[in-house]
Amino acid sequence: MPTIRDGVGVSEGIVEGKVRLLSLGIPEVIHRRIEASEVKREVERFREAREDTKEYLRALKKTTSSRLGTMEARIFDPQILMLDDVELADRTIEYIRGNHLTAAQAFEWRILELKAMWERTYQPMVLDRINDLDDLHSRLLHRILDLPDPYDPAEPEEPVILIARNLTPSLVVQCDPEKIRGVATDQGTRTSHWVILARSLSLPAVVGLGDITTLAEGGQEAILDGRIGRIILDPSERERTIFRGREVQLREWEEEIHQIAKLDAVTKDGQPVALRANLDLPWEADLAESHGAQGVGLFRSEFLVVGRSSLPGEEEQYEAYRHVAQTFPESAVIIRTFDLGGDKFPTFLHMPREANPFLGWRAIRVCLDELDLFRPQLRALLRATAHGDVRIMLPLVNDVDEVLRVRALLKEEEDRLTADGLDFNPGYKLGLLIETPAAALDAVELARHADFFSIGTNDLVQYTLAVDRNNTRLAHLFNPFHPAVIRQLHQVSRVARAAGIEVSVCGELAANPLGAFLLLGLDIHSLSVAWPSLPEIKKVIREFRIESARKAAARALAAPTSREVTAHLVEGVGDSIDLSAFSGRWSLNVPKSEG
Ligand code: PEP
Ligand code: MG
Repeated sequence: MPTIRDGVGVSEGIVEGKVRLLSLGIPEVIHRRIEASEVKREVERFREAREDTKEYLRALKKTTSSRLGTMEARIFDPQILMLDDVELADRTIEYIRGNHLTAAQAFEWRILELKAMWERTYQPMVLDRINDLDDLHSRLLHRILDLPDPYDPAEPEEPVILIARNLTPSLVVQCDPEKIRGVATDQGTRTSHWVILARSLSLPAVVGLGDITTLAEGGQEAILDGRIGRIILDPSERERTIFRGREVQLREWEEEIHQIAKLDAVTKDGQPVALRANLDLPWEADLAESHGAQGVGLFRSEFLVVGRSSLPGEEEQYEAYRHVAQTFPESAVIIRTFDLGGDKFPTFLHMPREANPFLGWRAIRVCLDELDLFRPQLRALLRATAHGDVRIMLPLVNDVDEVLRVRALLKEEEDRLTADGLDFNPGYKLGLLIETPAAALDAVELARHADFFSIGTNDLVQYTLAVDRNNTRLAHLFNPFHPAVIRQLHQVSRVARAAGIEVSVCGELAANPLGAFLLLGLDIHSLSVAWPSLPEIKKVIREFRIESARKAAARALAAPTSREVTAHLVEGVGDSIDLSAFSGRWSLNVPKSEG
């Protein structure tokens, strides 16, 4: 009997092969108190292992740089930095000296303490950093204990699908694409460092499968679909036939992507659309560019702070922003200031535990209170404006006062940059994410102080409907086609047009074909979607007529229920696109047909 498991497809491609299970074991550390005379030697042992590991990671970084590029190679930087981190290195040495522990045990204690601190979240970015920490844990212990390299999987004789709890960047860059056809893991997220490398290497991958390592057996036949995020163990003949059909389709689609990337995002009747990319990491800029993005509509900057034990420097931030700006020299690059709180927090901020974090100290509220965090970001952003049309966007703004306070801070930082002789573009734009009903209802006032709006429908839906966006039990209630939501979209679009400022949508709704149709119909001509969705959404836009979108949107606005809203949209789309072809691909499932 075949076993089918669905996870998250993070790197496209459909492959067939035998399972190879990989376990990145952590060696057992025996407890032993050392004599005072052994302390010096144990400290030395730790330092040597640390230096060796750094050397090893630097060598991998160099190989990655020549194989994939300098930005991808930077994926190894957090681990190299961690090895020098006071919290890790100095404390380990303190434990050896103060508690008379062996190097191995002192290091293990410290790693476990750091992990316990970071594990109090479900935030993907923090979990990624924990994975980096696990990798160091295993690697360094193997060095200290003089064990053979755990990451040296003997080359398989025939091509395999690798299955593991989680992977690491160092392992993925060493995968021979001829031998490893694809990877599937229990854990991992779209932004895991190894996942980014897998994508750059075109290595198909599915993550978040939960228990695949316990279900799969070495040598078992498997099919892995990195596009829809599925793995089938012991596939039947029927599934193999479907697989081969999908493989052909996918190859055709891959070819089409290159063609679509070069085409304009314009409706059938000539309405141009600014189709931009959402990025979580600077390295994604190149992928967005090759997938046909016309700039960046949302660059989330939290990767710079989440899971870190110290504040990021202005220079490091400036480099990341500049890289994205230079990838899109002719187009807008909208960078959002830190959206911390909610489910994302940096360890150095000591965020208070809150009963309702999403209604708590979050986003712009944190930044306005923590100027040591905010000012360097504003300076780095201002400096990046010298390299293109870099725009600054503020998350979760509720009232004018917040915007005025940011404007005052920006003015102070501009003056300082001028005094320091550093360049910036004085004509840069400052925009607002509209993601609360307060902001949508008060858009007229906010528009007086903003250069553009971008609607964050993920949060707007959450706050309008009082439905936690991460609560899977309530997923069926998280409905962006609710009349209360679409009326706010309409209101914000009208206000922006009257004020002569751009309005876009950068929430998930823009990546849903029916959502894109609605938004165009509401005269929102700028959409920003996660880069893998760019070609499909562009294809969809090119099939629509703006006139039908407007008519359908007008009918949807008068509809009393979400069901009727979607029914009008489905009817408006008619047979211009095959909506059912998208189901399973979209996080907001497209309704088949209603009423
Ligand atoms: C949103 O809320 O729609 C948005 C784009 O921001 P995020 O998903 O990062 O909260
Ligand atoms: Mg948001």
